[in-house]
Amino acid sequence: MSECIFCKIIEGSIPSAKIYEDEHVYAFMDIMPLTKGHALVIPKNHKENVYDLSEEEASNLFKVVPKIASALKDAYGPVGMNLLNNNGAPAGQSVFHFHLHFIPRYDQTDGFR
Ligand code: 5GP
Ligand code: ZN
Repeated sequence: MSECIFCKIIEGSIPSAKIYEDEHVYAFMDIMPLTKGHALVIPKNHKENVYDLSEEEASNLFKVVPKIASALKDAYGPVGMNLLNNNGAPAGQSVFHFHLHFIPRYDQTDGFR
C-alpha cells in the first residue's frame, strides 16, 4: 500500500471531499483551506512534481482545469481565482504528489496574499 497521502485519498483509504473524478485525475477540497472553496486536482498516477509528469498526464490534468475552476466559481462566488503549483520544499511543497491548487479569491481581506 502507498505511503503517499494523496495516493491514499485516490484509493479511498483516507476520506476526502471529492469534487471531480475521471480515469486520470481526482479533485477534492483542501483540508486546510487558504480561502473558502480551496481545492486541489491531482493525477491518479503517483508523480512527485511537475518535472515527473508526462505530456499525456499533464494534458489529462490541465484539460479539466477550466471545468473545475468554473464549478468552484459557481459554487462559491469568488471574484478572483489563483491557480498554484509548488515544486520542492523550498517552493512550499509539503505533499510530494503533484497537485494544482485552486484558490478562490474574495477581496483583499480573504487572508491569502
Ligand atoms: P503544498 O503545500 O504541498 O503545495 O500543498 C499541500 C496541500 O495539501 C495543503 O494545502 C494541505 O492543506 C493539503 N492537504 C494535506 N493533507 C491533506 C489531506 O489529508 N486531505 C486533504 N484534503 N488535503 C490535504
Ligand atoms: Zn501519491
